[in-house]
Amino acid sequence: MKKVTILIPCHNEEQSLPITYDRIAAMAASQPQYEWEFLLVNDGSTDGTLSQMRQLRQRDTRVCYIDLSRNFGKERAMLAGFDHASGDCMVILDADLQDPPEVVPQMLQYWEKGYDDVYARRTTRGKESWLRKKLSVTYYRLLQRMSQADVLQNVGDFRLLDRRCIEALKTLREQERYTKGLFAWIGYRKCEITFERGDRVAGQSNFGLMKLLKLGVDGITSFSTAPLRISTVLGLVVSLATFFYMCYFLVKTWVLGDPVQGFPTLIVVMLFLGGVQLLSLGIIGEYLGRIFNETKHRPVYLIREKEGV
Ligand code: UDP
Ligand code: MG
Repeated sequence: MKKVTILIPCHNEEQSLPITYDRIAAMAASQPQYEWEFLLVNDGSTDGTLSQMRQLRQRDTRVCYIDLSRNFGKERAMLAGFDHASGDCMVILDADLQDPPEVVPQMLQYWEKGYDDVYARRTTRGKESWLRKKLSVTYYRLLQRMSQADVLQNVGDFRLLDRRCIEALKTLREQERYTKGLFAWIGYRKCEITFERGDRVAGQSNFGLMKLLKLGVDGITSFSTAPLRISTVLGLVVSLATFFYMCYFLVKTWVLGDPVQGFPTLIVVMLFLGGVQLLSLGIIGEYLGRIFNETKHRPVYLIREKEGV
């Protein structure tokens, strides 16, 4: 019998978790031809998520859980899940039921047809602010243009991965993780299905604007070196413009004489160049900081307790 792991990273999900479990258990009951494993990762929750996990484990031995030593973020919590999943394939689900478990049987059908990575594209995005939607569209367009990895828009972490993909992802142990990019990077046979993304069933979103911004910068810095080229391009443009400006001034001085003038020009040019230099330094700093973090070779996450895995 083939084994399917359902991986659920959880951060402060005490309200959603029991509801999510019921829905997943019902879905699993409709697929008796598979053996199931429900792998819950507690990512440093400050509420009763862990005790919920313990209760579920007592009710159902298919449930296993990993308790991380603190909040490491969803990206790292997912790696902990990849490391401990024992299934022949794995589906990553959010704990808030925004990714409906009822789509999983369809994913399994495609998996049986030989696809390694069945990802779900959302046709609706649920309740989200206008700004978040707009930023998301712009961001993916930018990332697509700057990086070689084909990171897809409206595709999240909700997907089925074959054992091959899990093993591949386990070898990618970078600290600043952008898992969406890693899915694209590993390749393998991919297939798309669509679903309607619902609203969160209970609790609040864990991703504020700052967290999303960090994830966004991680995505760009781990999949593209294009920003590093910005200073080269700006330098070229500024030098070229300066050259023409110089020619203009030489001619003007020849023809009209040279009364002392040009303070505004001077200050504008100085400030502009200062800005460009600081920007370039900042970009180099972003990459340097990440190199610094990677070279420490710390473990990506730490486990406090685990049960069933
Ligand atoms: N999550 C996590 N660690 C975090 C933040 C989020 O494991 O630091 C989990 C969270 O419990 C949920 C999933 O990641 O299962 C998606 O988070 P959320 O629903 O808050 O994000 P959104 O859907 O608003 O993007
Ligand atoms: Mg959510």
